[in-house]
Amino acid sequence: MLETERLSLSKEIEDLAAHYKFQRDGLLPILQAIKSCHNHISDFAMQEVARMLNIHPVEVYGVVSFYSFLSTKPQGNFVIRLCRTISCDLAGKDKVARQLENELGIKFGETTKDGRFSLHWASCLGLCDQGPAMLVNDYVFTKVTSEKVYDILECCRRSFGLFSVEGDNRIKCFSSIQSNIKTNDQKGAFSSLETNQGVEKAFKLGPEKTIEKIKESGLKGRGGAGFPTGLKWDFAAQAEDTEKYVICNADEGEPGTFKDRILLSDYPDLVVEGMIIAGYAIGASHGIIYLRGEYSYLLPIIQGVLNKRRESGFLGDAIKGVDKFGFNIEIRLGSGAYVCGEETALIESLEGQRGEPRNRPPFPVISGFNGHPTVVNNVETFAMVSHILAKGPEWFKKKGTEKSTGTKLFSVSGDCVRPGIYELPWGITIAELLGIVGGEDAKAVQISGASGRCVPRSQFGHTIAYEDIPTGGSTIVFGPETDMINVMTNFLEFFREESCGQCTPCRLGNVKLLEGARMLQDGVCSIKYLRELQGLGKTMQIASKCGLGQTSPNAFLSITEHFTDEILGKTRRNK
Ligand code: SF4
Repeated sequence: MLETERLSLSKEIEDLAAHYKFQRDGLLPILQAIKSCHNHISDFAMQEVARMLNIHPVEVYGVVSFYSFLSTKPQGNFVIRLCRTISCDLAGKDKVARQLENELGIKFGETTKDGRFSLHWASCLGLCDQGPAMLVNDYVFTKVTSEKVYDILECCRRSFGLFSVEGDNRIKCFSSIQSNIKTNDQKGAFSSLETNQGVEKAFKLGPEKTIEKIKESGLKGRGGAGFPTGLKWDFAAQAEDTEKYVICNADEGEPGTFKDRILLSDYPDLVVEGMIIAGYAIGASHGIIYLRGEYSYLLPIIQGVLNKRRESGFLGDAIKGVDKFGFNIEIRLGSGAYVCGEETALIESLEGQRGEPRNRPPFPVISGFNGHPTVVNNVETFAMVSHILAKGPEWFKKKGTEKSTGTKLFSVSGDCVRPGIYELPWGITIAELLGIVGGEDAKAVQISGASGRCVPRSQFGHTIAYEDIPTGGSTIVFGPETDMINVMTNFLEFFREESCGQCTPCRLGNVKLLEGARMLQDGVCSIKYLRELQGLGKTMQIASKCGLGQTSPNAFLSITEHFTDEILGKTRRNK
């Protein structure tokens, strides 16, 4: 690197660091900006960042190496990320992958010699109803075929705008999203609501009664864990600190989940409104939307909503219509790490660290972002809060069950006639859901994504509810011809890739289970070894540090339990 280039890069990094007040929590956006301008983060850049933020270069390297969207090696001008989640796999991603490799003359993980293209796998792009899906830089391509690959690459090679590509490009993808929330009775929560009805009601009620209303509704967190939202807010409201935070977890990375993408593209105002209500209720004046890097194309939409609200006085240092309450929101981008969907890992990431889950307690409501009380809620939870305040807890409780109140958004993909987003009441049976989406001949359904469980046909009478089978919304339908060993292998590859590596049961356990799944595929896994692997899976469920490791063996365990004959078929034939 020439001395003038070094000086220029150093000045660029100094300006970025100044923007973030030379604070450690600016580390991730600084690295993202460097990567975006220079296609990688060089040793010199890492040293300069470390110098500006007064931290050790090894710490900067530790962060760069943690996130799949950051890189120390130069990347191509066009970075292609093909989704390999099971829904895209069922839709034919392997053919697309081979075509990409043939056209570019490189393997996944490599960059072409001319430096124009890099090819990578993506764990899940959140486009499961429109697979195979891929990103080229920030542009989305859905329903990709091997024929379309040639057109897309030609556009890149000739430096045409990507929008000129025939097919499902970003614009078409957006238009297909518009009508995507479907209901079974046309009276879903998302069928009508005017902006700010919820927040105005909250201002009339005051903070304490606002929390009471949320408690009365029985709303539980929609991200999957199902913790009562009102109780979480109450803990944070009671915490004694003048600085509190509200974080919107928009890092949905669970394979088969894409509902938050629709909420953020079609109903972002509702989500922002829910955050303001939360801020008002707990006494916070700062909000952060942690948006997954795979959804960076939603940034302008959300930013537009925030700008409009600032102009109209519904966001900022002094919010219209209420005394002494100001609330600001900023957006931070993730960088391709599924584990950051876990709330403490997300907070670590926001603080400029590797996204490694923390020990609890203390819980974030007591000590969260930068040590301050923090409420972290899912995108859907915030959207639902706005509805509940506007329409009342009784309206909300009319649907669902006693312990699982209201409706839930389901992301449905896989072998069914009508994939998409469905707003349905809790307590619906799996058979009823399959009837709605056109998946009646399914042999199994994966409820709650890779970390959920695989439910066989004999159990389709079960209800989807916290008291029976809970879910964060991901629903993947497996038709009669689905190879169940392929399903569990796909999930275990995902977890091996996404484990943060902090604790042994998860780091090594997922490797061992994956080896076992491949042995089953090859017909060389004995029944005795399968039993040992099942024992290992059960140990991982109790001995892993966080939800990722505790739930990663679920699919393996449920598939090996319910499809024993199918998965041992090859082993028995080989005897
Ligand atoms: Fe990391 Fe897995 Fe342990 Fe969670 S369970 S802390 S993801 S290694």
